Amino acid sequence: MQSPPLEDRIYHVHTTRCGHATEETDEEYIEAAIALGAKELSFSEHMPVPGDPFNYQMPMHRLPEYVETLKALQKKYADRITIRVGMECEYLPSLEGYIRSLMPEYGLEFLILGQHLYEHPDGTTNFRDDEETRERFDVPGLAEGMIAGIRTGLFEAVAHPDRIFRRKRSWGEEETAIARRIIRAAMEQKIPLEINMESRNFPEYHFYWPEFWKLVPPECEIVYGVDAHAVKEMVDNTVMIRKILRGEIE
Ligand SMILES: [Zn+2]
Ligand SMILES: [Zn+2]
Repeated sequence: MQSPPLEDRIYHVHTTRCGHATEETDEEYIEAAIALGAKELSFSEHMPVPGDPFNYQMPMHRLPEYVETLKALQKKYADRITIRVGMECEYLPSLEGYIRSLMPEYGLEFLILGQHLYEHPDGTTNFRDDEETRERFDVPGLAEGMIAGIRTGLFEAVAHPDRIFRRKRSWGEEETAIARRIIRAAMEQKIPLEINMESRNFPEYHFYWPEFWKLVPPECEIVYGVDAHAVKEMVDNTVMIRKILRGEIE
């Protein structure tokens, strides 16, 4: 199915199930998306990991209910808006088989790659690394994880690719080289890079790097993600995306 134009899409929306979003219901997001005149709303909750080892994802036991509820809402609202049920996933090599099973097993419609974690050679992740280790290894580790994830062909887009540089306070040749490799991998795989509106909203976190986006050639596909964990975020970010697309703001 062909996607509607960017201004009619609302992409990368979370729900209350990940535990760090507001308590608003799925239907409140859907109604607000309809009020915005959107044609498509893509939910992508944080992928649960078996054993729930990380603290910011949907717990494993909520996965069936997430899919069931949203599929029912998809039917209920079918004549008013296209709802897509997906997942934002970490690519960890040890989880590849599991990630691969998500779409067929649960009937998910898409996966996006959101690389907040990476795996060390011994199979542990950077999740419990101390600050010093993270300072040294997070950027190359996340970049390698992201590129390997892109190459699996499992993901339809790369969420906030520039967020891996969040510990940096300046941009140099090293960052440029890493950024170019990520951009090339996405282009080879023919999947879009996501300009993440929440990253743009918080300059103090250094999630958003204009230097990264300057390296992206016009032929590389882009998607705008609201990355909403609240209805208001979804609405405000959608309004902002439309302003960007109309050239009213940069
Ligand atoms: Zn989140
Ligand atoms: Zn997200």
